[in-house]
Amino acid sequence: MTTSESRLILFDIDGTLISSGPVALAAFSSALLDTFGTAGDIQNYRFEGRLDPIIVLELMTAAGLPRATVEKRLPSALALYLDRLERALSDSSPRLKPGVREILDDLSARPGIVNALLTGNVERGARIKLTAAGLWDYFAFGAWGDEGPTRNDLGPVALRRAREKTGKAFLGKESVVVGDSRHDVLCGKAIGARVVAVATGRTGASELEAAGADVVLTDLSDLSIAREAILG
Ligand SMILES: [Mg+2]
Repeated sequence: MTTSESRLILFDIDGTLISSGPVALAAFSSALLDTFGTAGDIQNYRFEGRLDPIIVLELMTAAGLPRATVEKRLPSALALYLDRLERALSDSSPRLKPGVREILDDLSARPGIVNALLTGNVERGARIKLTAAGLWDYFAFGAWGDEGPTRNDLGPVALRRAREKTGKAFLGKESVVVGDSRHDVLCGKAIGARVVAVATGRTGASELEAAGADVVLTDLSDLSIAREAILG
């Protein structure tokens, strides 16, 4: 395996690195309820791979609220969610997915490797979750959930930010997206990145494979398999 090459690794957060579980859902749900008077059909909503502001928009417009009203109150709804998430996670840490710390330690020790985030969370949400999980310091930067209308728009944001933060212009093919949903797979493919999908979220291995992932892993628990999958 060549280790001298430079590589940009873009990690998804929820379902890939951690699960914030019912704590995050409760904070999200109560913030919607207190901002809009309803949490909509949140129990049946498929959150995985989606962007937080878009989740609010979709849930609330589906519940019958005018789009303009939702857009106007969206910043305060997200702020309320994040305040509550921060409080909740101050005494209940998110659970790390198997092998996550080990692979991050391994990749961080390799010259030329840049670990970063590509996530549906807004930056503050990512920081709250990953600080509580003890993972925040592994990442050089992120492309966040409020930086584009769809997840596919975040790949180019990540490449641009990599250039700003590292001084190196990474090509899509020098990048790797690691995620647990079809949306992660599709956004990686959209920039020509290698995609490593992990079946540690709600999406099964066959669906991830069908979406076009280059490699699908049950989880990241075997360090050498995970490293080989990511570095190719
Ligand atoms: Mg995810």
